[in-house]
Amino acid sequence: MDIRDDLQAKFLALYGYEPAGEWSAPGRVNLIGEHTDYNLGFVLPFAINRRTFVALGLREDRVIRVASSFSDEVVEIPLAELSPGALHGWSAYPLGVAWALSGHGADLSAVPGVDIFIESDVPVGAGLSSSAAIESAVAIALNDVWRLTLSRPVLAQVGQRAENEAVGAPTGIMDQTASLLGQKDCAVFLDCRSLDSEIVDLGLEAAGLVVLIIDTGVSHQHATGGYAERRASCELGARMLGAQSLRDVTVADLPRAREILDDVTFRRVRHVVTENQRVLDTVEVLRDLGPAGIGDLLDASHRSMRDDFEISVRELDLAVETAQANGAIGARMTGGGFGGAAIALIRSDDLSRLQVAIDGAFAEHGFGQPDTFVVTAAQGASREN
Ligand code: ADP
Ligand code: MG
Repeated sequence: MDIRDDLQAKFLALYGYEPAGEWSAPGRVNLIGEHTDYNLGFVLPFAINRRTFVALGLREDRVIRVASSFSDEVVEIPLAELSPGALHGWSAYPLGVAWALSGHGADLSAVPGVDIFIESDVPVGAGLSSSAAIESAVAIALNDVWRLTLSRPVLAQVGQRAENEAVGAPTGIMDQTASLLGQKDCAVFLDCRSLDSEIVDLGLEAAGLVVLIIDTGVSHQHATGGYAERRASCELGARMLGAQSLRDVTVADLPRAREILDDVTFRRVRHVVTENQRVLDTVEVLRDLGPAGIGDLLDASHRSMRDDFEISVRELDLAVETAQANGAIGARMTGGGFGGAAIALIRSDDLSRLQVAIDGAFAEHGFGQPDTFVVTAAQGASREN
């Protein structure tokens, strides 16, 4: 059964009536530009062919109910009672979006209540942003039925606010932007300071290349620990360098940064500064030479995350090294780090050889078998019917 048939049937079974419509939004993979978003720098993600679907029905009252194939519970709350403190667990993502829309013109005491059912084939916690997929799908659905006419960049901000304030994860705006603005066969080049974005052709198919996701299965947790710590280091580094953010620090400033900063803070700063430059270089190379030219930039990005930002884990390093040794043009961990997935850019002809090598390498090291699958660059959030 298609995931969308399932969605209809589950909505009907749960709520007892047909939904008014269906919307979907994709997960994303970040080609390059890691931990640069909250430093107001550059990122280059693309929306992937894994999506979260939302079926939504309108209610007569002012109550919102959410359910997901992800969970057994149906969470129900009056719209007027939505606030970050009232939201917990997975439902904080969709309900947080409803709450965040109130900051952009949704009068929660006037809009109709809704029932929402969510179904997804975006792997959760793999660094492919199932969180942005659920936020963006709910955001475009509510934007439509509540007739808010908000633009996609604003909906991205709504999703980010939900994640920051309702979920409590201090993440940037990259994921929602990719999920909402992505286009087929293209990446989204986003300036996280101006929020200007540009669509950049990836041209993977024409070049005979694919992007392989290697999901290590090691789970990460954004809301706690390392992510917040890295963010704090970046803020400290910027402050000590007299910059508003690390966006204003360039590669030419690094010698001075090394003198002023302690070693750890310096390496955190060096990652962000060089990663920003790698994103700019990747965009240029994609335009001039096409995707076959970006391998060294991907490899350098991984080294920087492993050695300077220290957000890799052994499983990710093994995935990257195995890819590099088995024909990949370039490879790097992707996403926030501490687990999740790596990507390998590889000729389609070399794909099965690499997949076999990865399985072998993980078995040899006594690691659990990773999930490997190809992703394509897909259309961003859309109304399905
Ligand atoms: P990811 O890398 O997948 O974005 P996050 O930890 O940021 O990982 O977000 C994953 C969380 O988002 C899940 O634990 C869950 O709370 C919520 N979530 C994602 N997809 C769904 C879904 N389809 N249904 C319900 N909750 C979801
Ligand atoms: Mg996430």
